[in-house]
Order: sequence, then C-alpha cells, then structure tokens
Amino acid sequence: MFNLYDAHNHLQDERLGQVRDTAILDLRRENVRRMVVNGSCEEDWPLVRDLAKAYPEVLPSFGYHPWYLKERSPDWEQSLIGFLDELPSGVGEIGLDRWMKDYDLEDQERVFVTQLRIAAERNLPVSIHCLQAWGRLYELLRQEPLPNCGFVLHSFGGPREMIPSLTALGAYFSLPGYYALERKTRQQEAFRHVPRERLLIETDAPDQSLPVERVRYPLTETATGKPLNHPANLEAVYRFACELLNESMETLTRQVEENFTRIFGGIMR
Ligand SMILES: [Zn+2]
Repeated sequence: MFNLYDAHNHLQDERLGQVRDTAILDLRRENVRRMVVNGSCEEDWPLVRDLAKAYPEVLPSFGYHPWYLKERSPDWEQSLIGFLDELPSGVGEIGLDRWMKDYDLEDQERVFVTQLRIAAERNLPVSIHCLQAWGRLYELLRQEPLPNCGFVLHSFGGPREMIPSLTALGAYFSLPGYYALERKTRQQEAFRHVPRERLLIETDAPDQSLPVERVRYPLTETATGKPLNHPANLEAVYRFACELLNESMETLTRQVEENFTRIFGGIMR
C-alpha cells in the first residue's frame, strides 16, 4: 500500500459535516498518512484545531483567505497567533485574488503580508491561494521575508515561465484532481515543468472535484445536490499525476512523501 499525503484540503468545511466521521475512516483505509487542513477565517479556525487534536493525521493550518477578509474582527491577528502558538501548525490559506467579485487588492496585500511575516518569524510552512495576481504575488514574495521551510502554491495555475523563479524562492507546487479535466491543458503543461522535488498532491476537498469517471468516493451537497469532492479521492489524484508525468505510482508516492516531509516536517507530530 502506498503512503499518501494531501497537501491541501478543508476537512473542517461545513459541507463535509455530513460525512466527517466516516471520512476519517475512509481516509485511513486509503492510507492517507497526513493531510494539511486549511482554515480560511476566524470562524473556522477552532474547528481546524479540534480536528487536529482529534486526529493525528491532521496537520492544522490557520490563515485568512482573501475571500473572507471583510468579515475579519479587529483582533484577528492576535487570534491567529494564539492558534499558531497552541499546537504545531502552518499558516494558510492566505493569498491574493483578482478573480473574485469586488476585490480590494490593497487590503488583500496588507493582510497577506502580515501573515507572511508571522510565518517567516516562526519558520512555518505557508499555503498560498493565487488567482489572476501572479505578477504581484511574485513581487511580494521577493520583497518579504519567507519561511526557510518553504511555501506551497496550492492548485498552482500560474504561467509556467514563472516556475523557475518561484522555485528559487522556495515554492512547492500542488496539483489538484480538477486539472484532470480535458480542457485544463495549460495547467497540465505547467505541471510537467515543475521540478519533481517540489511537487505536491492535493484534493482541496470539498472543492475541485475530479472528472466523474475518476471519482471513487462520490458525494453531493445535501442542500443543493451539487457534486462535492470527498477527501478520500486522494489516490485518484495521484493516479492522474502518474499519467500526466509518465511516472509509476511507486516512484511518485515516494517522491511526494519526501517533498511533503521536507516542507511540513517541522509541524508533524
Ligand atoms: Zn483551499
């Protein structure tokens, strides 16, 4: 059996509430050894902490996602530091997003940089979300102090020309199953150019579903009937990566285990 590592999911998401207890059993059956569970706002940080305390597989990560900045309280920064001090954890999901409606890039940058500095001071791995803001992200990463352990560009969708310079700054590139969709040719091509020692695999569950024929754990949102991504679909994402990179499962899982341990080793319990 292969050891699997999910570099990015949201097990705390309320849309997974219906399956959370059975999900952990499914994840164990699938041999998912560790997963980075990303908080996205003050409201879900306590849930992420509780999951980390309940399940040794969960590596917690705390951060303010650009989509939820408008909800933040005046004490958000203190609260974030409190969670980071409570147990070994990463910083994320943080980032920049010019795809969302009514974005305020200045505000996003301020909060992003604040969190980046907190991570750099403590040498904590950072999980970064970036949509349509790659140039600006690169500038900030170049100017600001970064954690020595590195940072993850989750669901990397930037231009492949930027991969070498991002790699030089300490980037890891994490591949979601969503990129197995036939039309995602640009992203697929980019991942063929990612250095193997910087490759990670993620589900981003409950988002970024795989093409339906690859799904092993089907799930739908009770309220809307929309498809959701089950975190135990991780092996299907690895299978997709093997096809994309023309690699055996044995070699790929060993490489990803090495990479995951290199960046997240400091917060593994
Ligand atoms: Zn995410």
